[in-house]
Amino acid sequence: MSRKKQFKAESKRLLDLMINSIYTNKEIFLREIISNASDAIDKRYYKSASAGKSGLSRNDYSIRIEADKDNRTLTISDNGIGMSEKELDENLGIIANSGSLDFKQGIEQAVKTDKKSSADLSSDFVNDDASNLPDIIGQFGVGFYSAFMVSKRIEVISLAEGEEKAYSWTSDGASGYRIEESDREEVGTTIILTLRDDNDEPDGENYSKYLEEMTIKRLIAKYSDYIRYPIVMSVEKSREKPATEEEKNADGYKPTYETFYEDEILNSMIPIWKKKKSEISKDDYNEFYKSKFYDMSDPLKVIHTKVEGVISYDALLFIPSEVPFNYYTKDYKHGLQLYSSGVMIMDNCEDLLPQYFGFVKGLVDSQDLSLNISREMLQQDRQLKAIAQRIEKKISQSLNEMLTNDRDNYNKFFKAFGIQLKFGVYDYFGMNKDKLKDLIMFQSSSTNELSTIKEYISRMPSEQKYIYYATGESVAKLEAMPHMDIFKDKGYEVFFCTDEVDEFALKILGEYDGKEFKNIGDNDLGFDISDEEKEKSDKKNEDAKKVLDAVKDALDEKVTSVILSNRLKEHPVCLSTSNGISLEMTKILKAQAEVTGNSGMADFNADVVLEINGNLPFYGNLEKAVSDGDEERIKDYAMLLYDQALLIEGLPIEDSVEFSKRICRLM
Ligand code: ADP
Ligand code: MG
Repeated sequence: MSRKKQFKAESKRLLDLMINSIYTNKEIFLREIISNASDAIDKRYYKSASAGKSGLSRNDYSIRIEADKDNRTLTISDNGIGMSEKELDENLGIIANSGSLDFKQGIEQAVKTDKKSSADLSSDFVNDDASNLPDIIGQFGVGFYSAFMVSKRIEVISLAEGEEKAYSWTSDGASGYRIEESDREEVGTTIILTLRDDNDEPDGENYSKYLEEMTIKRLIAKYSDYIRYPIVMSVEKSREKPATEEEKNADGYKPTYETFYEDEILNSMIPIWKKKKSEISKDDYNEFYKSKFYDMSDPLKVIHTKVEGVISYDALLFIPSEVPFNYYTKDYKHGLQLYSSGVMIMDNCEDLLPQYFGFVKGLVDSQDLSLNISREMLQQDRQLKAIAQRIEKKISQSLNEMLTNDRDNYNKFFKAFGIQLKFGVYDYFGMNKDKLKDLIMFQSSSTNELSTIKEYISRMPSEQKYIYYATGESVAKLEAMPHMDIFKDKGYEVFFCTDEVDEFALKILGEYDGKEFKNIGDNDLGFDISDEEKEKSDKKNEDAKKVLDAVKDALDEKVTSVILSNRLKEHPVCLSTSNGISLEMTKILKAQAEVTGNSGMADFNADVVLEINGNLPFYGNLEKAVSDGDEERIKDYAMLLYDQALLIEGLPIEDSVEFSKRICRLM
């Protein structure tokens, strides 16, 4: 007897909604149907185990997929618990009714009232999970309908355990469904999806692809790889046709090939992160990383943690050893994969990683997430935030550990991703600087290795007050800067900042262990000088006032002041700045202002000081020009000194033709 039933009006609208707007991605239908099959098997297994029935053993369960291109059908069958006529009606006829949720709540209730019943269930049931309860995936009662996104007709044939008769449920979508008696020998459920017709419009969907072996394999690997029962498909293979020795030896023998079909298990079933750590080899981790995250090289570091508590999760994280080729482009997707009970929910969950640890690859698997109805997103980000916080701590811990115990690898890591950490110090007005300040490193004048700030401080002579740094394009150029003379003299170490972000990060840090940072281009280097020395220097400048003023006038506002230098030994001139903004910084800000169109950035100007070495012979000539009142000569000297200073700083000179003319005039 078959009778056509009507969906209630609301149900029709709901179904329409379901089909068209809940999911962003049609392909997840397979994930939903397979998750249901897995739930059905879990239920049957759980029931037979708790009833003490010998029933099927764990290995007898499977989910089978079959694609029939001629009939455009995709069939998914399982030997799970099945559905009776009534269950077909209730579970598939009432939208948002979840038989799985009822089941889960039922056993949770039973466990509460009779603690024992679940505890002595077969202990291998849920990978040694603390609860031993089946890890049922379904809960919203809507996943099944996602199959209508790709199907014009769905037929479900099911024989429930303990029932005599099998029934089928058939529907073409919103028009309603029909339940009738059917044939099925074994307990379980078969779902036959008749795919929609391909849409040939330019942006039209190609539904036929879901019949392709490749697509099916890809979807299972992506979403359902860790379903705990084998997902089996008969796949087409090719082999050489057997031939006798005689045939093989005959002239012109060519082997012929035949196609045959063989069952293949498409999922790997046990997620590597659920295994005991002692059972996972380094190679296992490496292989997993390379195949899941498309890298050719082994990871530099593997972080595998299991957390139990208010929120429980497993995390498997990798620090790559090479910078991905697209890392600094928009194409690079930050984030970790998010699994809920072994089913992939999100591919790149950005909220799980702070941006400065964006190089970390990996995944998080948690049963405790409350997912939204499409299971594509979380309902609350409180849980996610809690996980993200712990993950950040863990990564930071691992990096610190690597820094102390495995320096070679840390150096390698830092060369690849260190700049990201420096940006992390600087970003958001230094909000995260304290978390990162111990992890950043710089090149330095006293060692060829990268040094942390702490290491620098440990090498500081006791009278040294500041942590000094120099900014510029390359270590070689910085080492040759005239500003370095006095530091070499005093034996003070200088950090060489060759990345644009370096000085910005140091500025935001401000200090480390009470020691402030100072650019060696700062006019005031903060050295302790005796009153005697100070008097001497003031007097020198006083005596030279006429000369220095003349040079400043000749330079026409190009510099804020001109002084006799205390720091120069062999070099004739250098530039310093007196307002804490370095020349390098001005250069970077100007360039950024041009790129971003934010002219405010270009307003940060350094107060430039031209420092002249009064101890070299050329200074006598300058003095003479001033006392002779030879304006032209003063201008030539002043401009030449200034241009030289610019060149030494690696800055462009304004007028190179004039520069060369001046040199010739003086030759
Ligand atoms: P959910 O999985 O969130 O409960 P679904 O819409 O995916 O919601 O499925 C609705 C219900 O239909 C399930 O809870 C389950 O009771 C039943 N069901 C679906 N597929 C199967 C199956 N293969 N075997 C047995 N029962 C199933
Ligand atoms: Mg479901």
